[in-house]
Amino acid sequence: MVDSAALRVHKLGGSILSDAAAIRQAVGALSAVQQRSAVVVVSACAGVTDRLYAIGQQAATGNAVEARRELQELLEWHCVQVRQLLPPEAALQTEAALRELAVQADQLCQGVAYLCELTPRTSDALLAFGELFASRIVADALRTVLPVPVLLADARHYLVTDATFGRARPQLEELCQRVCCELVEHLRGDAVVVTQGFIGATPEGITTTLGRGGSDLSAALFAVAVGAEEVVIWKNVPGVFTADPAYVADAELVAEISAVEMRELALAGARVLHSEAIEPAVASGIRVRVRSVTEPSALGTLILARREAAPVPLALAWRQQCWVYHCPLSVFGSVIGHPSVLLAAVSRSGGILVAESPVTSVGEEETLSWERWPAPQALISVVGKSPEQWAVSMLERLMHAGISCRACFVESPWALRVLVPQELWGDTVSCIHQELLRWRRRGTVPSSDAGVTRGSG
Ligand code: ASP
Ligand code: MG
Repeated sequence: MVDSAALRVHKLGGSILSDAAAIRQAVGALSAVQQRSAVVVVSACAGVTDRLYAIGQQAATGNAVEARRELQELLEWHCVQVRQLLPPEAALQTEAALRELAVQADQLCQGVAYLCELTPRTSDALLAFGELFASRIVADALRTVLPVPVLLADARHYLVTDATFGRARPQLEELCQRVCCELVEHLRGDAVVVTQGFIGATPEGITTTLGRGGSDLSAALFAVAVGAEEVVIWKNVPGVFTADPAYVADAELVAEISAVEMRELALAGARVLHSEAIEPAVASGIRVRVRSVTEPSALGTLILARREAAPVPLALAWRQQCWVYHCPLSVFGSVIGHPSVLLAAVSRSGGILVAESPVTSVGEEETLSWERWPAPQALISVVGKSPEQWAVSMLERLMHAGISCRACFVESPWALRVLVPQELWGDTVSCIHQELLRWRRRGTVPSSDAGVTRGSG
Protein backbone atom coordinates (compact mmCIF):
# COMPACT_ATOMS: atom_id res chain seq x y z
CA MET A 1 0.00 0.00 0.00
CA VAL A 2 1.03 3.58 -0.44
CA ASP A 3 3.15 5.16 2.26
CA SER A 4 0.97 8.13 3.10
CA ALA A 5 3.78 9.85 5.02
CA ALA A 6 6.08 10.21 2.02
CA LEU A 7 6.43 13.79 0.85
CA ARG A 8 4.79 14.05 -2.54
CA VAL A 9 3.72 16.72 -4.95
CA HIS A 10 0.33 16.03 -6.53
CA LYS A 11 -0.86 17.74 -9.66
CA LEU A 12 -4.59 18.09 -10.36
CA GLY A 13 -6.23 20.01 -13.14
CA GLY A 14 -7.91 20.20 -16.51
CA SER A 15 -10.23 17.36 -17.48
CA ILE A 16 -10.13 15.71 -14.06
CA LEU A 17 -11.68 18.92 -12.69
CA SER A 18 -14.58 19.05 -15.13
CA ASP A 19 -17.40 19.57 -12.61
CA ALA A 20 -18.28 19.16 -8.93
CA ALA A 21 -18.51 15.37 -9.16
CA ALA A 22 -15.14 15.18 -10.86
CA ILE A 23 -13.52 17.48 -8.31
CA ARG A 24 -14.96 15.37 -5.51
CA GLN A 25 -13.53 12.26 -7.15
CA ALA A 26 -10.10 13.85 -7.63
CA VAL A 27 -9.94 15.13 -4.07
CA GLY A 28 -11.13 11.74 -2.82
CA ALA A 29 -8.45 9.94 -4.82
CA LEU A 30 -5.74 12.23 -3.51
CA SER A 31 -6.82 11.85 0.10
CA ALA A 32 -6.98 8.09 -0.34
CA VAL A 33 -3.24 8.00 -0.94
CA GLN A 34 -2.07 10.97 1.07
CA GLN A 35 -3.35 12.46 4.30
CA ARG A 36 -0.59 14.90 5.16
CA SER A 37 2.74 16.50 4.17
CA ALA A 38 2.10 17.18 0.52
CA VAL A 39 2.11 19.96 -2.02
CA VAL A 40 -0.91 20.01 -4.30
CA VAL A 41 -0.38 21.90 -7.54
CA VAL A 42 -3.68 22.83 -9.15
CA SER A 43 -4.32 23.98 -12.69
CA ALA A 44 -7.52 25.45 -14.08
CA CYS A 45 -10.72 23.42 -14.37
CA ALA A 46 -11.48 21.83 -17.74
CA GLY A 47 -11.70 24.34 -20.57
CA VAL A 48 -11.32 27.38 -18.31
CA THR A 49 -7.96 28.59 -19.67
CA ASP A 50 -9.43 28.51 -23.18
CA ARG A 51 -12.47 30.45 -22.04
CA LEU A 52 -10.38 33.09 -20.31
CA TYR A 53 -8.31 33.39 -23.44
CA ALA A 54 -11.48 33.94 -25.49
CA ILE A 55 -12.71 36.53 -22.98
CA GLY A 56 -9.43 38.42 -23.36
CA GLN A 57 -9.79 38.35 -27.15
CA GLN A 58 -13.38 39.57 -26.83
CA ALA A 59 -12.30 42.43 -24.58
CA ALA A 60 -9.54 43.37 -27.01
CA THR A 61 -12.14 44.04 -29.70
CA GLY A 62 -13.52 46.72 -27.41
CA ASN A 63 -16.65 44.79 -26.49
CA ALA A 64 -16.60 45.42 -22.74
CA VAL A 65 -20.20 44.33 -22.25
CA GLU A 66 -19.78 40.92 -23.84
CA ALA A 67 -16.46 40.31 -22.07
CA ARG A 68 -18.11 41.10 -18.74
CA ARG A 69 -21.05 38.82 -19.52
CA GLU A 70 -18.77 35.89 -20.40
CA LEU A 71 -16.63 36.41 -17.33
CA GLN A 72 -19.74 36.49 -15.16
CA GLU A 73 -20.87 33.24 -16.76
CA LEU A 74 -17.53 31.64 -16.01
CA LEU A 75 -17.70 32.81 -12.40
CA GLU A 76 -21.23 31.45 -12.02
CA TRP A 77 -20.14 28.09 -13.40
CA HIS A 78 -17.45 27.88 -10.69
CA CYS A 79 -19.93 28.93 -8.00
CA VAL A 80 -22.44 26.26 -9.05
CA GLN A 81 -19.70 23.61 -8.70
CA VAL A 82 -18.76 24.99 -5.28
CA ARG A 83 -22.36 24.76 -4.01
CA GLN A 84 -22.60 21.16 -5.17
CA LEU A 85 -19.23 20.26 -3.75
CA LEU A 86 -19.03 21.85 -0.31
CA PRO A 87 -21.27 22.00 2.74
CA PRO A 88 -23.40 25.21 2.68
CA GLU A 89 -21.35 27.25 5.12
CA ALA A 90 -18.00 26.45 3.56
CA ALA A 91 -19.49 27.03 0.12
CA LEU A 92 -20.49 30.57 1.09
CA GLN A 93 -16.93 31.46 2.02
CA THR A 94 -15.43 29.88 -1.06
CA GLU A 95 -17.95 31.65 -3.29
CA ALA A 96 -17.14 34.98 -1.68
CA ALA A 97 -13.44 34.43 -2.39
CA LEU A 98 -14.16 33.54 -6.03
CA ARG A 99 -16.33 36.62 -6.47
CA GLU A 100 -13.54 38.80 -5.14
CA LEU A 101 -11.13 37.29 -7.65
CA ALA A 102 -13.67 37.81 -10.42
CA VAL A 103 -13.87 41.51 -9.59
CA GLN A 104 -10.13 41.78 -10.25
CA ALA A 105 -10.46 39.82 -13.50
CA ASP A 106 -13.32 42.08 -14.55
CA GLN A 107 -11.26 45.22 -13.92
CA LEU A 108 -8.53 43.82 -16.14
CA CYS A 109 -11.01 43.05 -18.92
CA GLN A 110 -12.56 46.48 -18.75
CA GLY A 111 -9.11 48.03 -19.06
CA VAL A 112 -8.34 45.81 -22.05
CA ALA A 113 -11.66 46.78 -23.68
CA TYR A 114 -11.03 50.45 -23.00
CA LEU A 115 -7.64 50.32 -24.69
CA CYS A 116 -8.66 47.71 -27.28
CA GLU A 117 -5.29 46.13 -26.59
CA LEU A 118 -4.36 42.85 -25.00
CA THR A 119 -0.63 42.62 -24.33
CA PRO A 120 1.04 39.30 -23.45
CA ARG A 121 1.53 40.68 -19.96
CA THR A 122 -2.17 41.42 -19.49
CA SER A 123 -3.11 38.12 -21.07
CA ASP A 124 -1.01 36.27 -18.48
CA ALA A 125 -2.66 38.23 -15.68
CA LEU A 126 -6.07 37.23 -17.01
CA LEU A 127 -5.28 33.56 -17.66
CA ALA A 128 -3.99 33.22 -14.09
CA PHE A 129 -7.55 33.46 -12.76
CA GLY A 130 -8.30 29.94 -14.00
CA GLU A 131 -5.68 28.57 -11.61
CA LEU A 132 -6.63 31.00 -8.83
CA PHE A 133 -10.26 29.88 -8.97
CA ALA A 134 -9.48 26.16 -9.15
CA SER A 135 -6.83 26.16 -6.40
CA ARG A 136 -9.19 27.92 -4.01
CA ILE A 137 -11.90 25.32 -4.68
CA VAL A 138 -9.55 22.36 -4.34
CA ALA A 139 -8.02 23.75 -1.13
CA ASP A 140 -11.45 24.22 0.45
CA ALA A 141 -12.55 20.77 -0.68
CA LEU A 142 -9.40 19.20 0.79
CA ARG A 143 -10.12 20.96 4.08
CA THR A 144 -13.33 18.95 4.35
CA VAL A 145 -11.54 15.59 4.00
CA LEU A 146 -8.04 15.97 5.44
CA PRO A 147 -7.18 15.79 9.14
CA VAL A 148 -4.34 18.33 8.85
CA PRO A 149 -4.13 22.07 8.13
CA VAL A 150 -4.48 22.93 4.46
CA LEU A 151 -2.66 26.10 3.40
CA LEU A 152 -3.35 27.94 0.18
CA ALA A 153 -0.09 29.43 -1.11
CA ASP A 154 0.05 31.93 -3.96
CA ALA A 155 2.47 30.42 -6.47
CA ARG A 156 3.40 33.90 -7.64
CA HIS A 157 5.14 34.49 -4.36
CA TYR A 158 7.33 31.40 -4.81
CA LEU A 159 7.78 30.68 -8.49
CA VAL A 160 9.90 33.57 -9.67
CA THR A 161 10.33 33.77 -13.44
CA ASP A 162 11.80 36.03 -16.07
CA ALA A 163 9.50 38.46 -17.88
CA THR A 164 8.89 36.39 -21.02
CA PHE A 165 5.12 36.66 -20.77
CA GLY A 166 3.30 33.64 -22.14
CA ARG A 167 6.35 31.44 -21.82
CA ALA A 168 8.18 32.57 -18.74
CA ARG A 169 11.31 30.74 -17.59
CA PRO A 170 11.35 29.83 -13.92
CA GLN A 171 14.24 30.53 -11.58
CA LEU A 172 14.64 27.28 -9.72
CA GLU A 173 17.17 28.55 -7.21
CA GLU A 174 14.91 31.37 -6.10
CA LEU A 175 12.00 28.95 -5.81
CA CYS A 176 14.08 26.60 -3.66
CA GLN A 177 15.12 29.41 -1.40
CA ARG A 178 11.64 30.79 -0.87
CA VAL A 179 10.12 27.35 -0.40
CA CYS A 180 12.79 26.41 2.15
CA CYS A 181 12.27 29.58 4.14
CA GLU A 182 8.50 29.52 4.18
CA LEU A 183 6.90 26.23 3.23
CA VAL A 184 9.13 23.37 4.29
CA GLU A 185 8.47 23.98 7.95
CA HIS A 186 4.72 23.64 7.42
CA LEU A 187 5.21 20.47 5.42
CA ARG A 188 7.35 18.98 8.20
CA GLY A 189 4.52 19.82 10.53
CA ASP A 190 2.17 17.65 8.44
CA ALA A 191 0.38 20.47 6.61
CA VAL A 192 -0.83 20.13 3.04
CA VAL A 193 0.08 23.11 0.87
CA VAL A 194 -2.15 23.87 -2.11
CA THR A 195 -0.79 26.15 -4.80
CA GLN A 196 -1.31 27.01 -8.47
CA GLY A 197 0.38 25.44 -11.46
CA PHE A 198 1.17 27.35 -14.65
CA ILE A 199 1.60 30.76 -13.02
CA GLY A 200 4.51 32.61 -11.49
CA ALA A 201 5.70 36.19 -11.22
CA THR A 202 8.71 38.31 -12.11
CA PRO A 203 10.95 39.43 -9.23
CA GLU A 204 8.86 42.64 -9.26
CA GLY A 205 5.69 40.63 -8.71
CA ILE A 206 4.16 40.87 -12.19
CA THR A 207 2.14 37.74 -12.99
CA THR A 208 3.55 35.45 -15.69
CA THR A 209 2.57 32.08 -17.14
CA LEU A 210 4.82 29.19 -18.12
CA GLY A 211 3.00 28.34 -21.37
CA ARG A 212 0.08 26.03 -22.10
CA GLY A 213 0.24 22.81 -20.14
CA GLY A 214 2.76 24.46 -17.83
CA SER A 215 1.35 23.14 -14.59
CA ASP A 216 3.14 19.80 -14.93
CA LEU A 217 6.34 21.83 -15.03
CA SER A 218 5.24 23.73 -11.91
CA ALA A 219 4.66 20.42 -10.14
CA ALA A 220 8.12 19.18 -11.11
CA LEU A 221 9.75 22.42 -9.92
CA PHE A 222 7.95 22.43 -6.58
CA ALA A 223 8.96 18.79 -6.15
CA VAL A 224 12.62 19.70 -6.56
CA ALA A 225 12.23 22.68 -4.22
CA VAL A 226 10.62 20.76 -1.36
CA GLY A 227 12.76 17.66 -1.91
CA ALA A 228 9.76 15.44 -2.65
CA GLU A 229 10.06 11.71 -3.12
CA GLU A 230 7.49 11.59 -5.85
CA VAL A 231 5.37 13.68 -8.17
CA VAL A 232 1.91 12.29 -8.85
CA ILE A 233 0.22 13.52 -12.01
CA TRP A 234 -3.47 12.67 -11.65
CA LYS A 235 -5.35 11.84 -14.85
CA ASN A 236 -8.51 10.05 -15.77
CA VAL A 237 -6.61 7.26 -17.44
CA PRO A 238 -4.64 4.75 -15.37
CA GLY A 239 -1.29 5.66 -16.91
CA VAL A 240 0.76 4.98 -20.02
CA PHE A 241 -0.42 2.10 -22.21
CA THR A 242 1.23 -0.12 -24.80
CA ALA A 243 -1.01 1.76 -27.27
CA ASP A 244 -3.82 4.29 -26.96
CA PRO A 245 -6.62 2.17 -25.40
CA ALA A 246 -9.22 4.29 -27.19
CA TYR A 247 -8.10 2.62 -30.44
CA VAL A 248 -6.45 -0.60 -29.35
CA ALA A 249 -8.79 -2.72 -27.24
CA ASP A 250 -6.17 -5.06 -25.80
CA ALA A 251 -3.65 -2.36 -24.90
CA GLU A 252 -1.96 -3.02 -21.56
CA LEU A 253 -0.78 -0.67 -18.85
CA VAL A 254 2.97 0.00 -18.79
CA ALA A 255 4.13 -0.14 -15.18
CA GLU A 256 7.50 1.56 -15.66
CA ILE A 257 8.98 3.72 -18.35
CA SER A 258 12.18 5.72 -18.51
CA ALA A 259 12.28 9.41 -19.29
CA VAL A 260 14.00 8.67 -22.60
CA GLU A 261 11.31 6.21 -23.65
CA MET A 262 8.68 8.70 -22.57
CA ARG A 263 10.25 11.38 -24.74
CA GLU A 264 10.32 9.01 -27.73
CA LEU A 265 6.69 8.16 -27.17
CA ALA A 266 5.67 11.82 -27.06
CA LEU A 267 7.68 12.46 -30.21
CA ALA A 268 5.94 9.51 -31.83
CA GLY A 269 2.60 11.21 -31.26
CA ALA A 270 1.36 9.86 -27.91
CA ARG A 271 -0.51 12.47 -25.94
CA VAL A 272 0.38 11.28 -22.48
CA LEU A 273 2.60 13.82 -20.86
CA HIS A 274 5.11 16.40 -21.98
CA SER A 275 8.36 14.77 -21.02
CA GLU A 276 10.14 18.13 -20.95
CA ALA A 277 7.73 19.35 -18.30
CA ILE A 278 8.76 16.70 -15.81
CA GLU A 279 12.46 16.88 -16.72
CA PRO A 280 13.49 18.92 -13.64
CA ALA A 281 12.06 16.25 -11.35
CA VAL A 282 13.50 13.35 -13.33
CA ALA A 283 16.90 15.03 -13.44
CA SER A 284 16.85 15.31 -9.64
CA GLY A 285 16.05 11.63 -9.28
CA ILE A 286 12.45 12.24 -8.22
CA ARG A 287 9.98 9.59 -9.39
CA VAL A 288 7.04 10.77 -11.42
CA ARG A 289 3.89 8.69 -11.38
CA VAL A 290 0.81 8.98 -13.54
CA ARG A 291 -2.25 7.75 -11.64
CA SER A 292 -5.94 7.64 -12.29
CA VAL A 293 -8.56 9.39 -10.16
CA THR A 294 -11.00 6.65 -11.16
CA GLU A 295 -8.77 3.95 -9.72
CA PRO A 296 -6.77 5.49 -6.88
CA SER A 297 -5.58 2.15 -5.54
CA ALA A 298 -3.89 1.21 -8.83
CA LEU A 299 -0.25 2.26 -9.01
CA GLY A 300 -0.36 3.67 -12.54
CA THR A 301 2.82 4.23 -14.51
CA LEU A 302 6.12 5.15 -12.94
CA ILE A 303 8.46 7.39 -14.93
CA LEU A 304 12.10 6.98 -13.93
CA ALA A 305 15.29 8.72 -14.88
CA ARG A 306 16.77 5.36 -15.80
CA ARG A 307 15.57 1.80 -15.76
CA GLU A 308 17.00 -1.61 -16.53
CA ALA A 309 15.17 -2.23 -19.79
CA ALA A 310 15.21 -5.52 -21.67
CA PRO A 311 15.61 -5.15 -25.43
CA VAL A 312 11.90 -5.49 -26.17
CA PRO A 313 9.24 -3.23 -27.66
CA LEU A 314 7.44 -1.31 -24.93
CA ALA A 315 4.70 0.83 -26.45
CA LEU A 316 3.61 2.26 -29.75
CA ALA A 317 2.18 5.54 -30.95
CA TRP A 318 1.41 7.12 -34.29
CA ARG A 319 0.93 10.21 -36.32
CA GLN A 320 -1.87 9.52 -38.73
CA GLN A 321 -0.98 12.11 -41.32
CA CYS A 322 2.56 12.84 -42.40
CA TRP A 323 4.04 14.30 -45.55
CA VAL A 324 7.00 12.54 -47.07
CA TYR A 325 9.62 14.09 -49.34
CA HIS A 326 12.54 12.80 -51.29
CA CYS A 327 15.21 15.39 -51.74
CA PRO A 328 18.72 15.54 -53.15
CA LEU A 329 21.45 15.13 -50.60
CA SER A 330 22.77 18.58 -51.50
CA VAL A 331 19.87 20.30 -49.72
CA PHE A 332 19.19 17.60 -47.15
CA GLY A 333 21.33 19.14 -44.43
CA SER A 334 19.67 22.52 -44.62
CA VAL A 335 16.14 21.23 -43.99
CA ILE A 336 16.68 18.71 -41.22
CA GLY A 337 16.15 21.45 -38.66
CA HIS A 338 12.87 22.64 -40.19
CA PRO A 339 10.27 22.78 -37.39
CA SER A 340 7.76 20.45 -39.03
CA VAL A 341 10.32 17.77 -39.94
CA LEU A 342 9.88 14.74 -37.68
CA LEU A 343 12.33 12.43 -39.25
CA ALA A 344 15.19 12.68 -41.72
CA ALA A 345 16.96 9.67 -43.16
CA VAL A 346 19.30 8.88 -46.00
CA SER A 347 18.45 6.26 -48.60
CA ARG A 348 20.19 5.07 -51.77
CA SER A 349 18.33 7.64 -53.82
CA GLY A 350 18.84 10.63 -51.55
CA GLY A 351 17.25 12.05 -48.42
CA ILE A 352 13.84 11.18 -47.05
CA LEU A 353 12.04 13.67 -44.88
CA VAL A 354 8.91 12.95 -42.91
CA ALA A 355 7.07 16.08 -41.85
CA GLU A 356 4.12 16.80 -39.63
CA SER A 357 2.69 19.33 -42.05
CA PRO A 358 3.52 20.28 -45.65
CA VAL A 359 6.93 21.92 -45.80
CA THR A 360 6.46 25.21 -47.60
CA SER A 361 8.64 27.76 -45.93
CA VAL A 362 12.00 26.55 -47.17
CA GLY A 363 13.58 28.44 -50.10
CA GLU A 364 11.64 27.96 -53.36
CA GLU A 365 14.42 26.50 -55.45
CA GLU A 366 15.00 23.87 -52.84
CA THR A 367 11.41 22.71 -52.57
CA LEU A 368 11.22 22.53 -56.36
CA SER A 369 13.91 19.90 -56.39
CA TRP A 370 12.03 17.85 -53.83
CA GLU A 371 9.65 15.14 -54.72
CA ARG A 372 6.63 14.95 -52.46
CA TRP A 373 4.90 11.61 -52.17
CA PRO A 374 1.46 11.98 -53.70
CA ALA A 375 -0.50 11.01 -50.58
CA PRO A 376 0.11 11.63 -46.89
CA GLN A 377 1.26 8.59 -44.93
CA ALA A 378 0.80 7.28 -41.42
CA LEU A 379 3.94 7.09 -39.29
CA ILE A 380 3.78 4.38 -36.66
CA SER A 381 6.55 4.22 -34.07
CA VAL A 382 7.32 1.37 -31.73
CA VAL A 383 9.31 2.52 -28.73
CA GLY A 384 11.60 0.16 -26.87
CA LYS A 385 15.24 -0.56 -26.24
CA SER A 386 17.51 -1.82 -29.03
CA PRO A 387 15.02 -1.98 -31.90
CA GLU A 388 17.57 -3.74 -34.10
CA GLN A 389 16.90 -6.83 -32.00
CA TRP A 390 13.16 -6.94 -32.55
CA ALA A 391 12.46 -4.86 -35.65
CA VAL A 392 12.81 -7.78 -38.04
CA SER A 393 10.18 -9.85 -36.30
CA MET A 394 7.79 -6.89 -36.42
CA LEU A 395 8.39 -6.37 -40.13
CA GLU A 396 8.01 -10.08 -40.82
CA ARG A 397 4.72 -10.06 -39.03
CA LEU A 398 3.55 -7.19 -41.23
CA MET A 399 4.72 -9.04 -44.32
CA HIS A 400 2.79 -12.16 -43.36
CA ALA A 401 -0.30 -10.02 -42.87
CA GLY A 402 0.15 -8.70 -46.41
CA ILE A 403 1.00 -5.18 -45.24
CA SER A 404 3.90 -3.72 -47.11
CA CYS A 405 5.30 -0.66 -45.45
CA ARG A 406 6.70 2.09 -47.64
CA ALA A 407 9.74 2.65 -45.48
CA CYS A 408 11.08 1.69 -42.11
CA PHE A 409 13.55 3.49 -39.92
CA VAL A 410 15.73 2.47 -37.03
CA GLU A 411 17.47 5.78 -36.68
CA SER A 412 17.06 5.96 -32.90
CA PRO A 413 18.34 3.43 -30.37
CA TRP A 414 14.85 3.60 -28.84
CA ALA A 415 12.40 3.23 -31.71
CA LEU A 416 11.38 1.47 -34.89
CA ARG A 417 9.25 3.54 -37.26
CA VAL A 418 7.26 2.44 -40.25
CA LEU A 419 5.51 4.48 -42.90
CA VAL A 420 2.33 3.04 -44.38
CA PRO A 421 -0.42 4.46 -46.57
CA GLN A 422 -3.04 6.05 -44.35
CA GLU A 423 -5.70 3.48 -45.19
CA LEU A 424 -3.47 0.76 -43.73
CA TRP A 425 -2.97 2.59 -40.44
CA GLY A 426 -5.49 0.58 -38.41
CA ASP A 427 -4.38 -2.84 -39.67
CA THR A 428 -0.73 -1.95 -39.20
CA VAL A 429 -1.26 -0.75 -35.65
CA SER A 430 -3.15 -3.86 -34.61
CA CYS A 431 -0.64 -6.15 -36.31
CA ILE A 432 2.37 -4.47 -34.70
CA HIS A 433 0.61 -4.36 -31.35
CA GLN A 434 -0.01 -8.12 -31.52
CA GLU A 435 3.69 -8.66 -32.04
CA LEU A 436 4.50 -6.23 -29.24
CA LEU A 437 2.29 -8.21 -26.87
CA ARG A 438 3.99 -11.43 -27.91
CA TRP A 439 7.38 -9.98 -26.94
CA ARG A 440 5.89 -8.66 -23.74
CA ARG A 441 4.56 -12.10 -22.76
CA ARG A 442 7.89 -13.71 -23.30
CA GLY A 443 9.97 -10.85 -21.97
CA THR A 444 12.33 -11.65 -24.80
CA VAL A 445 12.25 -13.89 -27.87
CA PRO A 446 15.02 -15.64 -29.79
CA SER A 447 16.89 -13.03 -31.74
CA SER A 448 16.42 -13.04 -35.50
CA ASP A 449 19.50 -13.57 -37.57
CA ALA A 450 19.10 -10.45 -39.62
CA GLY A 451 19.23 -6.87 -38.40
CA VAL A 452 17.69 -3.79 -39.92
CA THR A 453 20.16 -1.28 -41.19
CA ARG A 454 20.17 2.12 -39.61
CA GLY A 455 18.74 4.64 -41.96
CA SER A 456 15.85 3.83 -44.22
CA GLY A 457 14.67 0.96 -46.34
N1 ASP B 1 -4.36 25.74 -17.38
C1 ASP B 1 -3.22 25.80 -18.24
C2 ASP B 1 -3.57 25.25 -19.61
O1 ASP B 1 -4.70 24.87 -19.83
C3 ASP B 1 -2.04 25.10 -17.67
C4 ASP B 1 -2.20 23.60 -17.51
O2 ASP B 1 -3.30 23.10 -17.57
O3 ASP B 1 -1.19 22.94 -17.33
O4 ASP B 1 -2.71 25.19 -20.43
MG1 MG C 1 -5.42 23.29 -18.17
